[in-house]
Amino acid sequence: MHPRRPPLRLLVVATALALSATQARPALPRVLMVTYSAGYQHEVVRRPAAGELSTAERVVAGLGHRSGGFEVSHVSTREDLNRLTVTSVRAYRAILFFTTGELPITPKLREAIVQSVRDGTGFIGVHSATDTWYGVPEYRELLGGSFDGHPWHQRVRLIVEDRTHPATRHLGEAVEIADEIYQFQDWSRSQVHVLLRLDPRSVDVGRGKRPDGDYALAWTKSYGRGRVIYTALGHESNVWADDRFQAHLLGAIQWALGRS
Ligand SMILES: [Zn+2]
Repeated sequence: MHPRRPPLRLLVVATALALSATQARPALPRVLMVTYSAGYQHEVVRRPAAGELSTAERVVAGLGHRSGGFEVSHVSTREDLNRLTVTSVRAYRAILFFTTGELPITPKLREAIVQSVRDGTGFIGVHSATDTWYGVPEYRELLGGSFDGHPWHQRVRLIVEDRTHPATRHLGEAVEIADEIYQFQDWSRSQVHVLLRLDPRSVDVGRGKRPDGDYALAWTKSYGRGRVIYTALGHESNVWADDRFQAHLLGAIQWALGRS
């Protein structure tokens, strides 16, 4: 008996696949990570030296590399910001902000960023992303809230409201973490899907402004066709070193990319 030979057509396909694998690997989705601080600059986004990545940049690049799921472009300096164009921002599948203040870019570029999310680009807001662009109503609407002080800076307990979301399903029913804890204005539970909220019993809740004690600290929402996710965590470098936070962030990015 002759050994069975694969039909010629299959061989051609296999060869073509082998060739395309060596010549052009399918491009990974690209994430634009913006850590420019027009206001207060957090330690975790401070670059130790020109050309070296900050803690936050290293962690996100590492998450992309280890998961094999995405590549990250970093925008940290004024020069980096100035290099962005209306066309270049549209090449990204998701945009991550850990920023502060009024970012010095043209209204046209700012509108391109917001419009790209409306058109389906994912958006991940981390910590002080809500402390950014107060004067831009469409950005506040995109994100679902804006910073209104940090009444607490201590170890707190967070209640996991969504135990199946990729950003929070590894956390169990509650998690304890030491970080700076924000409260928000222009935020409404009816406009977002809450992932994490502060357990008001874990703090002196009277220091916050809300009579109902409802302090969400991570949520998702849609903005046009774009998936938007926000986490208020990430002030402290210890948080960035925490595996639970890194898994939270990886799940958030993958969800914003539409991969989970
Ligand atoms: Zn902070």
